[in-house]
Amino acid sequence: MRSLAMRKQNYYLDGRCVFCRKSFTQAELTDEHIIPEAINGSLVIRHGSCKECATRSNQEYENQALNVDLKVPRVLLGLRGKSKGSGPRDARHMPEVFAGDSVMGGEGKRLDFPIEDYPKHFSLVQFSQAGLLVGIDRGATLVSPRVAFFNLGGNGLENVRTRVPFIIGPFAMMIAKIGYCYAMAEYGDDYFDATDIRALLMGTRDDVYNFVGNVENPERLSTRHLHGLYFRRRAEWLTVLVHLFASCHSQQGTNICNPYEVVVGRAL
Ligand SMILES: [Zn+2]
Repeated sequence: MRSLAMRKQNYYLDGRCVFCRKSFTQAELTDEHIIPEAINGSLVIRHGSCKECATRSNQEYENQALNVDLKVPRVLLGLRGKSKGSGPRDARHMPEVFAGDSVMGGEGKRLDFPIEDYPKHFSLVQFSQAGLLVGIDRGATLVSPRVAFFNLGGNGLENVRTRVPFIIGPFAMMIAKIGYCYAMAEYGDDYFDATDIRALLMGTRDDVYNFVGNVENPERLSTRHLHGLYFRRRAEWLTVLVHLFASCHSQQGTNICNPYEVVVGRAL
C-alpha cells in the first residue's frame, strides 16, 4: 500500500506573519499549511500568516493550483483535506479523456468514464533548473515545460491520454511558497536572506522561474511518505527540494517526476 500521509509537525514563529513579517496578535494570525492540506500536507506553522497574506496566497495561486493542476491526483488518490465532503464534488468535471496520443491537438476519440473507471494516471508539469542556480534570468515566462507522468496502475488504460489544463504559473508559485515556508519553519530568517523570495510571494516581483525549477540529476529520495521536503546547499544558496507525491513513484522507476527545487535565498 502506498502511503498517503506525511509526517505531522507543528512549528511556531515569532508572532509575525511568515509572509509580510508584520506583528499581529495570535488571534489575528491563521495556521499556515506548508504543503496544502488539500493534498494531505501535515506540516503547519501555527499562527503563521495574517489574514491578508493568507487570502492573497489562496486567491492568487494556491486555489488555482489545487483545483486545476492538482485536481486529478487529488481525486484519484482520494485526498480530501479538511473539507471531508469535497470528494464527490471534486470528482465532477474531470479532464476529458481521449484514445491514443493525439490529445494535444484535440484529435482522437473522446472516451467517457464513470469516475470509478477513470484512468489511474496523472501528470505534473516539470521545469528547467531554477534560474538563480544556473545564472540565467528566467523571468516570469516558462520556456519548454516538460510533463512527468504518474501511472497509479490497475485498470489497463495506459494508452489513453487525459487533457489536463495546466495553469502553470500558479503551480510554480505554490511550489515557491512551500519551499519558503518550510525554510522559515525550520530555520527562521536569520539563516538565509529571504528578501527576494518574499518579494515574489508578496507580489512585488514575478520572476518565479528564477526561484523554482526541477532538479536536473535526481538523487534517490525516500518514497515512504506522500510528500518529502529536504534542504540542500548549492554554492551560496539554500534550497528546498519539494518532492510531491513521492510515494507514487514506482519501484521500477517508470514514474519519474524529478523533485522541484526552490531557491529560498543566500545562506547567511
Ligand atoms: Zn502578512
